[in-house]
Formats: sequence, structure tokens, C-alpha cells
Amino acid sequence: MESLKEKILQLKKEKNAVILAHYYQQPEIQEIADYVGDSLGLSQEAKKVNADIIVFAGVHFMAETAKLLNPKKKVLLPDLEAGCSLAESCPPDIFKKFIDAHPHHIVITYVNCSAEIKALSHIVCTSSNAEKIVNSVPENIPIIFAPDKNLGNYINQKTGRKMLLWDGSCVVHEAFSLEKLIALYKEHPDAGIIAHPESENHILETASYIGSTSGMIDYVKRSPKTKFIVATEAGILYKMQEAVPDKILIPAPALEDNTCACSECAYMKLNTLRKVYDCLLHESPEIKVPKKIADKAIIPIQRMLELSK
Ligand code: SF4
Repeated sequence: MESLKEKILQLKKEKNAVILAHYYQQPEIQEIADYVGDSLGLSQEAKKVNADIIVFAGVHFMAETAKLLNPKKKVLLPDLEAGCSLAESCPPDIFKKFIDAHPHHIVITYVNCSAEIKALSHIVCTSSNAEKIVNSVPENIPIIFAPDKNLGNYINQKTGRKMLLWDGSCVVHEAFSLEKLIALYKEHPDAGIIAHPESENHILETASYIGSTSGMIDYVKRSPKTKFIVATEAGILYKMQEAVPDKILIPAPALEDNTCACSECAYMKLNTLRKVYDCLLHESPEIKVPKKIADKAIIPIQRMLELSK
């Protein structure tokens, strides 16, 4: 009997579809994806897609970004409930008032936000290019950075800027326990600690490398160390382990006790193989962005892609 994976691959061929998957997706989804990457890589890939249908195995704002970059394609998200706590921490009406109260500021938004927030922004960034994007703004121009205060704080430290930060954050990256991390490090003093800049400052202070998901994968490949404690969503471990099969990767522990003792994004994990199959079969749920918002939201994304070349 044909497995679900085989059925998806067959359907993908028949419908001329591609599957783009984020590093935080379940391994079985990453296995059948045409491209697996972080937000920047996925945006760049989405722009190049020639297929008729994009199945975006990730969360809502990512599928929206793919749609903005490729408005003529049909973009499907396996589960419409796959949101993002960080994107939700920035409601457009309140953010608009915040911007209006600071009319001389340039607005830089991390890609983890809704199309409405992007439409209110001057430039979008990802964790891979945030420093470069911020440095592209002349020093005498004040900046609002949203929605992630942890990434904003980290970039402030790196660049010496005093950006005004929106008070948003990601539940997954704020769930790491410093106490448990220190205890784990004591058990593995030969390990390198690596962290995503969405993590809180006290976690970042322990890290020997801070970077985006793809930056972290490159780092473990390059580093002479053979053991790492990894502070980001645990889904990254699948691709990372593929890249360094002989190295030991340990997920950084979360505050809450859970079965795997690591941090997982509940939104990302809403997508399953079955839902990927169903959405491709029924070509639904489809992501649509109202033209009025899309016309504005694409501008800061294109600025980011230009600046990231
Ligand atoms: S890990 Fe955090 S930032 Fe990423 S999708 Fe999940 S809630 Fe959003």
C-alpha cells in the first residue's frame, strides 16, 4: 500500500506543487520538502518558485510572506491555526498608534509579523540579516524595532544603536530555563552553547555563538567542537544532525517539564503529514492577502531582499 509520503509526492507532481518547510517542522515533513530553511532562505526560495502551488509547511506569517512574494501562485498552509505568539504580540491598530506617536522613526520589523504590520513598516528583516538591515539606516535616524524585544535588544547591543523596542516576544524562546541550562552545561562542560537571538538576554550571555537557524547549522559544521547545547526550537535538530552526523546535539532545557525536556513550538507542530496531504488534495486552506495590504506589505520585504543580496 502506498504510504502517505508517497501519496504526497505523487500529488505534488500531478499538481505541479512545491513544499517549502521551516526548520521547526516535524522531521517527516522536512523529509518530503523541496526546500527546508529559515525565514530568509524560505522568502528567497518562495520568490523563485515556478510551480503552480506552494504548500508552505510553517506558520501563517511565513505563508503570507510567500504569497506576497508570489501573488499569482496558490499558497496553501496545512493548518490555518498555525499562528505565532510573536506575530500575535503586535496588533496592527495598537502598533499604528505607536508609530504615529514617533513620526520621525524608521520602522524595521522582524519578518515574524502579520502582513498588516509589514504594511506599516519601512524595512523587514530576519534574524540572519537584522544587523545588516539596521546598519543600513544612517545613524542619525531613529528606529522603531518590532515585534521581538529580545532580538531588538541583541541588535542594539551589537550595533550600539538605541532602537525603540516593541514589547513582543516568542513563547518558545522565552521558555528556556537558565538554571537547567547551567546544570546541563555542568554535566557537559565540553559542549558549546549556541542560541537564537529571540532568546532572552540571560540565555544569550551563556552562548558562544548567537545566530539565525541557518547560521547555527553553519556554525556547528565549522566548529572544532563535537558537542553542542542548542537553544532554539527543537525542530532544528533534525537538519542540524543531518549536517553533522558525528556530533552530539543536546536541546536546551525548557522551564516546563515536558516529555522531551526541550522547547517545541506548538504552532509549528500543528502541521502534520496528513494535513499536508489533505491541503494539497483539496487545495485548501489557501492564504489570501487583501490587495490594499499586499501592495504596501511587499515594499519593505523587497527592500530587505535587495539589502540581503
Ligand atoms: S518558535 Fe516562536 S517565533 Fe517561531 S513560530 Fe513559534 S511562536 Fe513564532
